[in-house]
Amino acid sequence: MGAAGTVTGSAYVLALDGHEILVDCGVFQGEVDAAERNAQAPVPDPSELGAVVLTHGHLDHVGRLPLLSRGGFAGPIFGHPATLAIAEIVLRDALKISQFAGAGVYSTDDVEATLALFQPVAYEARRAIPGGARLTLFDAGHILGSSSALVEAAGGSILFSGDLGRRQTPILRDPNTAYPASTSVDHVVIESTYGDRLHPTGITSRERLREVLRRALDDGGKVLVPAFSIGRTQELIAHLRELYATGDFTGVPVVVDGPMGLDVTALYERHRDCYDAEAAALLRGGDGPLSFGELYGARGRQASERVRDITGPAIVIAGSGMCTGGRILGYLEEFLPDARTDVLFVGYQARGTMGRRLLEGADAVTIEGRSVNVRARVTELGGFSAHADRDGLLAWLRKVPGPPRGVFVGHGEPSAAAAFAERVGAELEITATVAEEGVRYELW
Ligand code: ZN
Repeated sequence: MGAAGTVTGSAYVLALDGHEILVDCGVFQGEVDAAERNAQAPVPDPSELGAVVLTHGHLDHVGRLPLLSRGGFAGPIFGHPATLAIAEIVLRDALKISQFAGAGVYSTDDVEATLALFQPVAYEARRAIPGGARLTLFDAGHILGSSSALVEAAGGSILFSGDLGRRQTPILRDPNTAYPASTSVDHVVIESTYGDRLHPTGITSRERLREVLRRALDDGGKVLVPAFSIGRTQELIAHLRELYATGDFTGVPVVVDGPMGLDVTALYERHRDCYDAEAAALLRGGDGPLSFGELYGARGRQASERVRDITGPAIVIAGSGMCTGGRILGYLEEFLPDARTDVLFVGYQARGTMGRRLLEGADAVTIEGRSVNVRARVTELGGFSAHADRDGLLAWLRKVPGPPRGVFVGHGEPSAAAAFAERVGAELEITATVAEEGVRYELW
C-alpha cells in the first residue's frame, strides 16, 4: 500500500487467517500527490487491523500512524524500543509540518493515542502477534533500532527487510546475517533504494571529510552542514570525533543546532545496546562515539543566535538536510554572502529544494522572502548513505535461511526495483517480483 515504484510511503498489509498485520505506515514525500495521499490511512478501515509492526522510525515509515488511531485502530504497534522512541520524536515533530497540521490531517490527540499503543520488542525476542503468528526483529543496521521483521505463521514465514544499512558505518552494527538455527524463511520483501547502483569505494567518506574540512577551515570561515536529524547527524558526529582525535582541528567548535538533532543524538547515547563492537569498546574505555571536547549543542533560538556571533571558524550541523526549512536557514541567510563560508552537502538533494539550487550554483537564493547572495563555496560530499547498495542487498539476501521461495522487491524507483529483481533471479535463482501497489499476492 506504499513504497511500490517509489522509496516513500512504506506500508505492507499481511493477511493471516482473518487478521491483517500492517508493516510500516509511512508518508509519501516529494511526489505531486503526496499531500493528498498522506491524508489517507493505507487501509480502508483501520479499526479492522490486528496489529502494526514498525521497521524503523523514519517519517516515510511511521508518518501516517496517527491516521490509524484517528480511524479507530486500537491494537498493538510493535517495534524495537529505539524505533518507538524515534517515532515519538518524529510524530510530535510532524505536527509542525504544514503538510499535516496545516491540512488538519491529524491532531496532537491522534499522536498521543498512537503513542499509547506502542509495544516494545527487543531484537531476536520472539513475540506472539494476532493471527497466531510470531514476530522476530533483527538488526537492519540502517538507523538506531532499525529492524528486519520476520513473521512466522502456521502456513509459512515472511521476512520484511525494512531499510537495510551499509556495512561498517560508525556506531551501528552491520545488517544482521546470523539467524537462529531453526529459522526458515519462505518469502522476503526487500527494499531496493540502491538496487541498481554501487556506492563508491576507495577513499573513505571520513578521509574525504577531513580533506574538505581542512580546506574549508583554512580561511577561518564557517562550515555549514545541512543534515538530516536522524542518523546522518549522529554519523557525522562520530566521524568528526575521530578526526578531532588526531588533533587536526583542535579548538574549532562543532555545533549541532536544533532540538530534533539533539534529542535523537541523546537517544543514540541512551540505546548503547544497539552499538557495534567499536562503539562499545569506546564506551568501555570511558569514552563514547558521540562526544568530544569541541562538540556543543544549540537547542533554543537564542543559542542559535549566539552561535552565529562566533568569530572565527566553526562547523555547524543543522537541519533540514535539503535546506527546505529548519535552523540551517538562519545560518545560510547570514553566511552565504561571505566568500569564506563553505556549505557541505552530505545527503541527496531533491529537485525543487534550496539545497539543489545551491548545488547547481545559484547566484542568489530566497530565504524567508529575502534574496540572499551566494558567495560561499558549495561542496557535495558523496559516500554518505544509510542504505545498502546493490551488492549489499544481495549479500544480505544470500544469508536469509531457507532458501526463500520468493522475493518481492519494493521501496525503490521502478528502474532500481526492476534491475534488482533481475539480479536476484540471475544470481540467487529465486523468483523475484517487483511489488506493485494495491496488488494482493497469495503466499501460502
Ligand atoms: Zn529509512
